[in-house]
Parts: sequence; C-alpha cells; structure tokens
Amino acid sequence: MSMSTIDDLGDVRGKRVLVRSDLNVPLQDGVIGDDGRIRASVPTINKLADKGARVIVCAHLGRPKGQVKPEFSLAPVAERLGELLGREVRFATDTVGDSARATVDALQDGEVALLENLRFEAGETSKDDAERGEFADRLAALAELYVGDGFGAVHRKHASVYDVPQRLPHAAGGLIAAEVDVLRRLTGDPARPYVVVLGGAKVSDKLGVIANLLGKVDRLIIGGGMAYTFLKAQGHEVGKSLLQEDQLDQVRGFIEEAAKRDVDLVLPVDVLAATEFAPDAEHEAVEATAIPADREGLDIGPRTRELFASKLADAATVFWNGPMGVFEFDAFAGGTRAVAEALIASDAFTVVGGGDSAAAVRKLGLDEDGFSHISTGGGASLEYLEGKTLPGLSVLED
Ligand code: ADP
Ligand code: MG
Repeated sequence: MSMSTIDDLGDVRGKRVLVRSDLNVPLQDGVIGDDGRIRASVPTINKLADKGARVIVCAHLGRPKGQVKPEFSLAPVAERLGELLGREVRFATDTVGDSARATVDALQDGEVALLENLRFEAGETSKDDAERGEFADRLAALAELYVGDGFGAVHRKHASVYDVPQRLPHAAGGLIAAEVDVLRRLTGDPARPYVVVLGGAKVSDKLGVIANLLGKVDRLIIGGGMAYTFLKAQGHEVGKSLLQEDQLDQVRGFIEEAAKRDVDLVLPVDVLAATEFAPDAEHEAVEATAIPADREGLDIGPRTRELFASKLADAATVFWNGPMGVFEFDAFAGGTRAVAEALIASDAFTVVGGGDSAAAVRKLGLDEDGFSHISTGGGASLEYLEGKTLPGLSVLED
C-alpha cells in the first residue's frame, strides 16, 4: 500500500491545511533543549506555505493529561519554529476554541499558524472513540485538507493522528514519507550483515522489538541499562545496576532463541562501575562478570567499546536504538560516543532511532550527516520494526 503525498493534494493555494507535526521537544522553564524535531518538521510546513496554503500546524508537548498547564505551552516552540521557518508563526492560545478559530480566519495564503498543545484537550488522547471523535470533529472543522507529518506520534491512536485524517482529504508529509522509506528498507530485504544495537534504560520497552528482530538480524548488540538484565540472565551478579527481575525469564528465552537462530548476541565484557548514580561518581572499569555488589554499571567499558566497534565494522545495515550508558553525565557518555563513531565510520546504511539516542548524537557534537538517517520517532520506529500496524500510518494509506 502506498500513501498519497502533498503533490497528490492538487492545488493547495488558499486552502486551509491542517498539518500534524511532532514538535515534542525537551522543554525546561520555557527553554528548548534539543530542537531536532522542530527542525525536522520545517520542510513540509515550508513546502505547503510556498504553495500558497494557509498552514495550520498542530502538535503536542509532554503529558499535560487533558488539562491546560502553562508549563506545557507550545508558545516557546512557536517562536523557535518561526525562526527555523524564516516566517512568522501566528500562535493560537487554544486548540479548537475562539483563539484557534480567529487565528485560522485571519490566515492569508502562504501564512502559518500553530495551535496550542493538543493534549490540553482530553479528547486528543481519549480511549473513548466518541470523545476522541468529538474533538476530531472540531479540529477537522478548522481545515479543508490534512497532512500527517508527526512521525513520532503515528503509533498513537489519537484524535489528531488517527481520527482527523478520516474526516478530511489527506496526505503524508515529507517527513513521514522519508521515515517510512527507511523503515521499509530495514524490514524488507536489508543488506547483510544486518546488525542491530540496542541500549537505553529498560529492557521491557524493547521486548517486542527484540523478539521480532531475532528472526531478522545477523547480529544483536546489547548495551545500556538493559544489558544488566541479560548479564543476570546468564548467571552473573550485576551489583546495583539497573535490573528488571521480572524480565529475566523472557530474556533467558531470547538468549536461547538467538543461539538457535545463529544470531550473534553480543553483550558487554566490561562496564564502568560507579559508586552512585551521579555525574561525578567515583568509577572504574570492571569485568562484566565481576561487578562489585555495591557498584552500578553506568556505561560500557573500554574493551566493550572496541568489541562493539569491531562487530559494527563489517555491517551493511545498522539500526541503533538506545544509548550505551548514562550519556547525560559526561563521564558515562564514552560508550555511546564509541558506538556513534563506529556507525559514522562504517559504510553501512545506518539508522539511529529513539529520542534519547538522537539527542545524544547532537549533544556529543557528532556530525549528523555521518548517519544515513536519524529518526524523529523512538516508540514509532520500534513498533514499526516489531511488525505492528501503526494507526497514524494506516489511515494515510487509504
Ligand atoms: P531512546 O530514547 O533512544 O529510545 P531510551 O529512552 O530507551 O532511549 O533510554 C535512554 C536512557 O537510558 C537515557 O536516559 C540513559 O541515561 C539511560 N541509560 C543508558 N544506560 C544506562 C545505565 N547503564 N544505567 C541507567 N540508565 C541508563
Ligand atoms: Mg527515550
């Protein structure tokens, strides 16, 4: 199945086009951290504005849970978006109320508006079809056409993602089209060796994708906090490291499955063991099989960095999701840097997925162009790789 594109919408001049973008950036006291998702949203919005459309952008920020909470306002995002677009962004202080209607009515051809945080309305995320539908009706009433471009939200059955496109002629924006192209390449017939690197905090977030990937990859490299549940499953003590006891059986199953399927499962051989979870914690590299009881592993060690790099060197396709350590602390960012650099050095088709992984790449000052693709969606790309149907993509396919 294929999705129609913006060009299939015909002449959009003078038309009100509702664009669902993913502008969910880290925000602290009104200051935007990594603005990667805003930058990734710019081309589609500019393309529509250049064609003379009246562009109404909608998006969510954080989890205000259906209530108006000023700390989750998209106002700072509107400003940053305007700078990046190189055009004024009119900001509506509500999503479907008086301000939204007045802002939309005032839009001229080629102008851009941003609506306030969709999740200020309970209808956006409601599990109740009728409640969601009612909110979708009001959103859809603002526009004549819909463009889905918020890749990071397509795994959510939310009003702006799933219900509004059923009410308006719709198309996929350039960002979603690009993301889906990449994911198809990973799930179709990837060039081999196909190597997947997984890290991050919780193994439970990634069970589905591991189960699915074991049938597809040649090599599976596990680092980050989730590695300790694997080490424990192999019978090693992991001290105070992140451990999900309730996942041990499942992980033992994965280890057996990998062996059966001849998948090279690569685990850390050494870790940086720290006295506490802190940026300045005292730490040393220890064998992964001999983590002291009073220490916690906050990064992969130097021998592991070399091992992982060597396991990536001959890859033809690489998907990487999840940092190798607590990269937010400089002392424990080295493992993540090593894996990122191995991807940059490789000739493979390299894809980075996951909000924190992408943020790590930028925080470490690495060249984003060194990767074939940096995805804007963590959960969405993982669910795609799990083989799930993503509501926000399937509605764009008909
Ligand atoms: P992504 O957003 O890229 O999918 P995750 O959200 O799964 O990644 O995981 C990111 C988090 O994992 C980071 O905040 C990082 O600090 C944490 N993390 C990585 N390694 C460890 C570790 N050894 N101990 C505790 N937390 C870790
Ligand atoms: Mg994350």
